[in-house]
Amino acid sequence: MSRDPELPGGYQDADLQQSALERAGARSAALRRRGICDHGWLLAPAGEPARCLHCGAVFADAEAAYEARREVRS
Ligand SMILES: [Zn+2]
Repeated sequence: MSRDPELPGGYQDADLQQSALERAGARSAALRRRGICDHGWLLAPAGEPARCLHCGAVFADAEAAYEARREVRS
């Protein structure tokens, strides 16, 4: 992995990516505590209905599940 000397404080892209992932995870967990699932853990076999493994919701396909996720997160 190459180092980027232009980022402040010695942070690197991986640090920023990790931080974004942690924020997304914290937001998802906060929603679930309020009883709102953002369907972030999907079982979506190609050509079959997608199922959220957090809440059990079933969607027509993976794209329908992603659309529902976007609506919750927006
Ligand atoms: Zn769900």
